[in-house]
Amino acid sequence: MIIVLKPEATESMIEHVMDRLKELGLTPHLSKGQERTIIGVIGDDRILANQPLRAIAGVEDVVPILAPWKLAGREFKKEDTIIDVGGVKIGGRRLAIMAGPCAVEKKELTVGIAQEVKAAGANILRGGAYKPRSSPYAFQGLGNEGLDFLGEAKKLTKLPIVSEILDPRDIELFLEKTDIIQIGARNMQNFELLKEVGAYDKPVLLKRGLSATIKEWLLSAEYIMSRGNKNVMLCERGIRTFESQYRNTLDLAAVPALKALTHLPVIVDPSHATGQWALVAPMAKAAVAAGADGLLIEVHSNPECALCDGEESLKPAKFKDLMKDLRRIAAAVDREIE
Ligand code: PEP
Ligand code: MN
Repeated sequence: MIIVLKPEATESMIEHVMDRLKELGLTPHLSKGQERTIIGVIGDDRILANQPLRAIAGVEDVVPILAPWKLAGREFKKEDTIIDVGGVKIGGRRLAIMAGPCAVEKKELTVGIAQEVKAAGANILRGGAYKPRSSPYAFQGLGNEGLDFLGEAKKLTKLPIVSEILDPRDIELFLEKTDIIQIGARNMQNFELLKEVGAYDKPVLLKRGLSATIKEWLLSAEYIMSRGNKNVMLCERGIRTFESQYRNTLDLAAVPALKALTHLPVIVDPSHATGQWALVAPMAKAAVAAGADGLLIEVHSNPECALCDGEESLKPAKFKDLMKDLRRIAAAVDREIE
C-alpha cells in the first residue's frame, strides 16, 4: 500500500503516521519526493484493510501498489534515484563510466589501467578480486589482495571502486574496501547474498541473471531494498538466447523498459553482453542513446595476456576513442560525461 500525504502534512504528522504503522506490525518506507511525500507499506495488506488511515491528520489517500516490486517501482517513487558514490552521482544527468580490468592482476597493471581510464574520462574503477569462473580450474582472482590493489589504484586516481562479492562472509571486507558492491549475474538470485548486502547502505550494482526476466530481476532488487538498502543500481549484461555468434544477447530494450518501471539507475555492460571487443564500442554507444545511466566496460592494457576475458577487453587507446564518441552521443540525448 502507498499512503499519500497531504502537501501541507507536517513532520510531526508524518512521524505519527509512521509510528501508527509500526504499531500495527508493518514496515513503513518513507519517500520524500519533490511534489509529494509518500509512505510505502510493505507487509500483509489485510492488516491495513480495516484501518481508518484516512482519519489520521495529514493523510490524503491510501492506494494499493499493483506491481510485485514495491520499493523499486515508480508507483512508490516517481523521481529517479540518484546514488552518491564518493561524490560521483549515479542516475543523474552525468553518466557513470565504470571501467577497468575483468580481474585484478598485478598491482602495477591495475594502477596503470586505472590511470588510463581516468585520463579518458571514466569516473569509477572496476576490477574483480573474487571471480565467479565457470571452470574451477580457471583463475579465481586474487581475493583480498586484489581488493588492496584496487585500493592502491584508488589512492592514486581517486576513482571509487566497484568489485564483485561472491560470499556473504566477505561482507565486512567489501564494506571497508569497495565503494560499490557488485552482485554478479550468477548470483542475481542468491537470496541470502541479496539479504546480506541489503542490510547496509553501501551502493549495490545488481547484474541481470543469465536468463532472468525483468520481473525476476526487479524482485531481486526488491530483496535488497526491503532490507533497508535503497542504493541499488541495475546492470544489463546480456541474456542467454539461441544466438551463439556472441557471448550473450544484449537486451537494450531493457533500458527504456526499466526506466519506465523503476526509479533505480540502469547501467549497461557491453563487454560481457558481447564477449568481443569489436562489438563493445557500438553497443556502448547504443546503450547511451537508449537512455542508460552508465556503462561498465572492461579495459586491459595487454588483452592477449589477460587472465580473464581478454577477448572482450578494450585497449586503453580504443577506450579513449570510444569516450570521445560517447561525449557526442551523450550530448545528443541531453546527458554528459566528465
Ligand atoms: C564481471 O563483471 O566481472 C562479471 C563476472 O560479469 P557477469 O556477472 O555479468 O558475468
Ligand atoms: Mn569479465
